[in-house]
Amino acid sequence: MRYVVAVGGNALKSGKVLNKLSASIAQLAARGNEIVITHGNGPQVGRLAMRGKKSLAALTRVTQAEIGSEIRKSLIHVDKRTGTGAKVIFTRVVVDGDDAEFVNPTKPIGEFYGRAEAEKLARRGFVMKRLLKGYRRVVPSPRPVRIVELGEIKKVLESGRIAIAAGGGGIAVIEKGGRLAYADAVIDKDLASALLAIRIKADRLLILTDVDGVFLGYHTKRSHLLRRTTASALRRLAVHEHFEAGSMLPKVRACVEFVSATGKRAAIGSLMKADAVFASRSGTQVTK
Ligand code: ADP
Ligand code: MG
Repeated sequence: MRYVVAVGGNALKSGKVLNKLSASIAQLAARGNEIVITHGNGPQVGRLAMRGKKSLAALTRVTQAEIGSEIRKSLIHVDKRTGTGAKVIFTRVVVDGDDAEFVNPTKPIGEFYGRAEAEKLARRGFVMKRLLKGYRRVVPSPRPVRIVELGEIKKVLESGRIAIAAGGGGIAVIEKGGRLAYADAVIDKDLASALLAIRIKADRLLILTDVDGVFLGYHTKRSHLLRRTTASALRRLAVHEHFEAGSMLPKVRACVEFVSATGKRAAIGSLMKADAVFASRSGTQVTK
């Protein structure tokens, strides 16, 4: 089977997590599956953006190199067993320059701040937003439209290697007169992963993060994990439930889009329980 495994930028902050991920991926690969690993870059791109003046697209390329090579290194023992290596593919993703996100940004990046610090940053021109766990900078996160390096990703899979692609949601580019220009935006990796999974005809989209799955009544006394659902039920739930914009909402949308387009299964679960999520025994499992 062909898997797209999306790994959270927040969940990736510790090295221990990376070891856990690589062990789970190794098992999946050993069973003869084709695997694309995608990853987020919210915390990492946010940190870089506080220092330099480069566009968010250029900084996303830096995080594709950095996080991608860390994931690749963690998979070296997989290479030894299967004789194949994982390959990092610098991936550009085309977005629409007129996307509403360029006017109303929603994607949180970088660190969490207290109120006083957030106000200081807002005076420096950053858009700051109050979230459940504190204040964070938000940036435009336009919808991914087309994956430029799609052919290259397929080739890597067909050669029997694990592909590490669309890191940070892909390097956001805008088509202008036949040329691709870097955009000041960070595409959500969950939506980019769904698009990629649909385009390469994947059998599974698995989104690994720092929570056990989708919670209903999130942050209330009645909070509980949603274990099994369908794409249409999840679409209806998204109207009333608290699925935070820029974090849980894009994961929910990614699953709805993938399952609706392909009829195949998707899941959202904990990176620490990756094996069980792969085996459909943990997380929120989404079917047609
Ligand atoms: P990642 O880096 O894996 O993309 P995000 O921070 O973007 O992680 O998304 C995961 C976070 O979504 C959780 O840590 C949690 O705080 C938040 N969240 C918001 N709404 C929900 C919900 N209904 N159920 C579970 N988690 C939620
Ligand atoms: Mg996220």
